[in-house]
Amino acid sequence: MDYSISNDINDINKRLLDEGVSFENKTILVTGGTGFLGSWVCDVLVKQKANCICLDNYASGSKDNIIHLINKNNFRFIYHDISKPIYFGISSHPNGICLSNIKKIDIVMHMASRASPFEFKDFPISILKSNTLGTMNALGIAKTHNALFFYTSTSEVYGDPPDDAIPTPESYFGHVNPVGPRSCYDESKRAGEAFIKAYELQHNLETKIVRIFNTSGPRIRYGPEFGRVVPNFIYQAINDLDITVFGDGSQTRSFLYVSDQIEGILKMVYNDNAIGEVINIGNDKEYTILELANVIIELTNSNSKVIFKGLPIDDPKRRSADIKKARNILNWEPKTPLKEGLKKTIQWFREQHKGN
Ligand code: UDP
Repeated sequence: MDYSISNDINDINKRLLDEGVSFENKTILVTGGTGFLGSWVCDVLVKQKANCICLDNYASGSKDNIIHLINKNNFRFIYHDISKPIYFGISSHPNGICLSNIKKIDIVMHMASRASPFEFKDFPISILKSNTLGTMNALGIAKTHNALFFYTSTSEVYGDPPDDAIPTPESYFGHVNPVGPRSCYDESKRAGEAFIKAYELQHNLETKIVRIFNTSGPRIRYGPEFGRVVPNFIYQAINDLDITVFGDGSQTRSFLYVSDQIEGILKMVYNDNAIGEVINIGNDKEYTILELANVIIELTNSNSKVIFKGLPIDDPKRRSADIKKARNILNWEPKTPLKEGLKKTIQWFREQHKGN
């Protein structure tokens, strides 16, 4: 089976249009637009004939994810770190950027942040800045343009919930270590949400917060120093390397395929009933990490064997999304079964790593 991202993009576009979701002629600024999820959003927006402005500094994104969009007349790339200043006057500061040549932005989607636990030890300050200063700067753009503000938050704001908060609803306040190895991400996403509520309250900005649960698929980054569990296991399996399960593998996650995530995000951006809301987009089917390892070994016909390594500090024991709100407000639910999403991701991986 050959895998093609454009088939998935066409499928997302069809699912959106079937429900009347169109961003044609809207001007949408996407921070983090060269990243895994951001670049899928840019692809769909360009397909839908929106004017897509992608702002990124390639911190965890890649030019490869957007290179095919660069010459489109409804796509524009701005190289900038969103946590650095943005000016709207006629001149800008050497560290900042001037956006006064953009007449009207309708929607700001703030998606920029590193998200892999492997990176929390090496880039804690830049992660904190993306979600605090970056969120404030992105909110400033939305305020200047009176634009809708959309923020990609995370299931990490829930930290390590107890069993009676699994699946986790949006109303759960969280159980987060403020000084642990994950706090740069968890707490900055929580602060980002607080910034948004402050701008909503003080400036009457229209805002929406999505809390994204584990999502994987083509374009997810792989690297021993920044890989998430799905790309790590796939890479190990297709190369017959040991599969590194952390702890005893009994911790759970719920995995969503990227197309389902992008459909959920864009439905939420579009839907007026989501204004002022926080909505989980994720899966409610839980798998242990050991189960995931075995499914990936099976799907890749791998000779890899599972080895067990130390469990990272504060690694959440269970994670599953309560998606009642997404079902009710957005008429959204996951469509791609785990194995189908993994098969596509494996195929994409094989194409990327040919000869490696
Ligand atoms: N994990 C693992 N082996 C790896 C990478 C991750 O066992 O090579 C585990 C990790 O400890 C966690 C789960 O897989 O329990 C999901 O990790 P990931 O980094 O994908 O993201 P998280 O859900 O923790 O943010």
